Amino acid sequence: MIHYSCDRCKRIIDPSEDLRYVVTMEVQAAMDPLDGDEPEDDRDHLLEIQEILERLDDAESDLIGDDIYQKRRFDLCPECYRKFMKNPIGGEIPAHLGFSQN
Ligand SMILES: [Zn+2]
Repeated sequence: MIHYSCDRCKRIIDPSEDLRYVVTMEVQAAMDPLDGDEPEDDRDHLLEIQEILERLDDAESDLIGDDIYQKRRFDLCPECYRKFMKNPIGGEIPAHLGFSQN
């Protein structure tokens, strides 16, 4: 039987008691045209991304670094999920709203 643990607080998520929340994060560098007057062509834009993804599949390519595209997956317990949703990008928040340490 597969046991999942929360990627944030590390506790085991018991499927009979807790929901498990899967957070999938996909980050890619935005490739907006430098000339802002041109209407954005979504099809070309998608093609560029597609090309990058194809290059990602090529294990020999070192050209696409983590700064261009990253995909992460996290399992969260319900408590950490609620905390995550309050501050999904980890921005600075007032101390009285901060995460507790336990
Ligand atoms: Zn947790």
